[in-house]
Amino acid sequence: MIARPKGTKDVLPSEAYLWHRLEETARETAERFSFREIRTPVFEHTELFARGVGDTTDIVNKEMYTFLDKGGRSVTLRPEGTAGVARAFLENGLAGGAMPFKAYYLISAFRYERPQAGRLREFHQFGAELYGSGEPFADAEAISLADTFLKNLGLKRVELQINSIGCKSCRENYHAALKEYFRPYLSDMCADCNARFEKNPMRMLDCKEERCRRATAGAPRMLDYLCGDCAAHFAAVRELLDEAGIGYTVNPSIVRGLDYYSRTVFEFTSSAAGAQGTVLGGGRYDTLLEQMGEKSVPAVGFAAGMERLLMVTAAENAAMQEEAGVCCYLAGMDEASRKRAFLLADGLRKRGIACECDLMNRSLKAQFKYADKSGARFVAVIGEREIAEGAAEVKDMKKSSSERVPFENLAEYLSARK
Ligand code: ATP
Ligand code: MG
Repeated sequence: MIARPKGTKDVLPSEAYLWHRLEETARETAERFSFREIRTPVFEHTELFARGVGDTTDIVNKEMYTFLDKGGRSVTLRPEGTAGVARAFLENGLAGGAMPFKAYYLISAFRYERPQAGRLREFHQFGAELYGSGEPFADAEAISLADTFLKNLGLKRVELQINSIGCKSCRENYHAALKEYFRPYLSDMCADCNARFEKNPMRMLDCKEERCRRATAGAPRMLDYLCGDCAAHFAAVRELLDEAGIGYTVNPSIVRGLDYYSRTVFEFTSSAAGAQGTVLGGGRYDTLLEQMGEKSVPAVGFAAGMERLLMVTAAENAAMQEEAGVCCYLAGMDEASRKRAFLLADGLRKRGIACECDLMNRSLKAQFKYADKSGARFVAVIGEREIAEGAAEVKDMKKSSSERVPFENLAEYLSARK
């Protein structure tokens, strides 16, 4: 047998309903904030990610699934959603349309990483993008959308951490201060951090290696280097969150792993996601669109990891874990009643009622056992006598009570109790 590739997962029919709930909650929440869905290709020109995500990032340096297609073009399976959305926005002339532009996506993404719980090579994201506004209101709306989504999933122990990483100009002084601070530690730090030191020292704060984390403990904080405009922007975002009652802590060590961020960055973390504590990350990226095209468009957004959210909801929200079975199982006792059950089921489905009947030629007892296992809410029993009376014996599986219901009233009876 050929096994699935390392770092991928099958979603089996017995667990797909959990994905549907996650996805439905994402869609409903996003649409309530007037974000609409965007779908972009699974693969893009490699150049898009190199330029959009940034060539000092782990994603571009180490994690991309890149290959040559039969025409000799270098293409890459998307490692994240933002670059593709930005490309689609520019390419389809949406920059000339109404602003703000608000879109969400539900995608699979691909990164060549070392697989662990909550870290896969094919994983899924719910993300949102808001283009055209540099106002603190836009940051606050994106964070509020993320917060509402997590609350709608019934999560209470998720924590929001925010930071500001300033703009290009205030970051220059900060980079210089960071380099001065890190220089004496360099020989103890990993090879990646030594490379980051030259290219993008702020990324050193995001390193997951223990020896590097020790070195970053006393590093200078970006917050102390913000220029006037960036400090005012951050204060305004915080004030909006405070007034909206969205709890957060300021964590100066959050820098996010992508090159395109500026000003606000944020993460929602949960201890229930195990070692991979970040379930959702985002921020502002005012230079991304300029980097990819000729237009400068301020932007803010986030992406949530669906596999990690599944872990957290499993730990925190028991109600969400219950699967609803079909509304009604129609059990037949003999050849004629099985046929009647089949035809009744057919009619009920046309009236929008989920139901099932026996396909295995099982005994009545075995049919009941199956119906119970599959979570059917009602079982309608049909035998010789029921056919003669034109009514089924409908058993409520929760209450263990039963009632005679004429065949022609079945749909109405079940609809009222769905
Ligand atoms: P991490 O620091 O955990 O590697 P990241 O900074 O690389 O995360 P982002 O690129 O910001 O992550 O992606 C947003 C979210 O997508 C993450 O917060 C996480 O929930 C999820 N995610 C990222 N990489 C993976 C992966 N390999 N497997 C599963 N989920 C992932
Ligand atoms: Mg990562």
